[in-house]
Amino acid sequence: QHPVPHANVESIAARVAAGETTHVPEGFIDYDAYRAAGGYALLRECVEGRRDAEAVIATMESSGLRGLGGAGFPAGRKWRIVRAEAGPRLMAVNIDEGEPGTFKDRHYLERDPHRFIEGALIAAWVVGVETIFIYLRDEYHGCRAMLEKELDKLRADPSMAGMPKLVLRRGAGAYICGEESAMIESIEGKRGMPRLRPPYVAQVGLFGLPTLEHNFETLHWVRDILEKGADWFSSHGRNGRKGLRSFSVSGRVKEPGVKLAPAGITVQELIDEYCGGMQDGHQFYGYLPGGASGGILPASMNEIPLDFDTLQQYGCFIGSAAVVVLSNQDTAVSAARNTMRFFKHESCGQCTPCRVGTAKALALIEQDRWDIALLDELSHVMRDASICGLGQAAPNPVDCVVQYFPHELSK
Ligand code: SF4
Repeated sequence: QHPVPHANVESIAARVAAGETTHVPEGFIDYDAYRAAGGYALLRECVEGRRDAEAVIATMESSGLRGLGGAGFPAGRKWRIVRAEAGPRLMAVNIDEGEPGTFKDRHYLERDPHRFIEGALIAAWVVGVETIFIYLRDEYHGCRAMLEKELDKLRADPSMAGMPKLVLRRGAGAYICGEESAMIESIEGKRGMPRLRPPYVAQVGLFGLPTLEHNFETLHWVRDILEKGADWFSSHGRNGRKGLRSFSVSGRVKEPGVKLAPAGITVQELIDEYCGGMQDGHQFYGYLPGGASGGILPASMNEIPLDFDTLQQYGCFIGSAAVVVLSNQDTAVSAARNTMRFFKHESCGQCTPCRVGTAKALALIEQDRWDIALLDELSHVMRDASICGLGQAAPNPVDCVVQYFPHELSK
């Protein structure tokens, strides 16, 4: 049993019910401040016909913006696909930020909430969407209270009449509900379990209708890209990659946090240039490039560009860009055990390779001596036969330990 911390949920809920918005950061941009700084003018240009939907899609495509929830599907292409489906169409915004180590969405949401709302409304205009469902991680109590208030202000503004309906939904408190099809099930009021695909959500999504699904941060960048141009976004980048990435950096660095950095930056550059180096007394030992699911790499592999596609050849992926830095006071074995405990707990239980596989893998890696042949076989079954990314990616950290940290296993 691994107890889930419920510690002060009730007291937080009571404070939120009493109208308290927790953790309002300095410089918070509310509805009035956002509008005063030119916010929603771009949306107005769109709905008044001063922007052409096709040109907007073309700008999004040439910016190279990809889905920033983890899958990395090109945003502009997604708009084009859903737009080509017969209406009515719906939209779902995924703010169920549950990947361990990821906190970038919350960082932007609690500072500048209208930026993603404007991005969502523009996407809805391009695609032809009637209702936008915003699915917010239930643990983000303060954000929910704030967002309810800000959405009310928007709805009350007569100049915003006629915009698509915005519906805020509470997440179900499960990691798997961040998986797009499980989120769709959850919004529909069902148990959050991933769907078999095809059909894809873009074709048969919410309530059986074509659905544009986006991660929060993807929409956060829409306004900047359309105002500043595709080149503004794509001109950033290092090591041949294009664009910007918001890295959630945690672990043994001096200055953890959300770091907006060029796509393709290496972990060493990220630590040295953006995080003030390692904490005193700690030497860089390894890193998780993409939260719990993205695998573990040793410090010796510190020059790999952190971006979509690149890490796959090393059995890893960047996902939502949650970089967890380990030091010589950590072990990759304990990190792998920790992640597998998490996956076992969060498996929705729908398919056997994941439900049984995560439990079996955990039992095997909790032994002092790992049965590497059996773990390898199990890993193949989980990858090949699990329905969704949870079961398919769960073996990543274990496989990485075997491949990159064999010295820890021979102790
Ligand atoms: Fe559920 Fe795991 Fe199967 Fe995904 S892989 S559907 S989380 S049991």
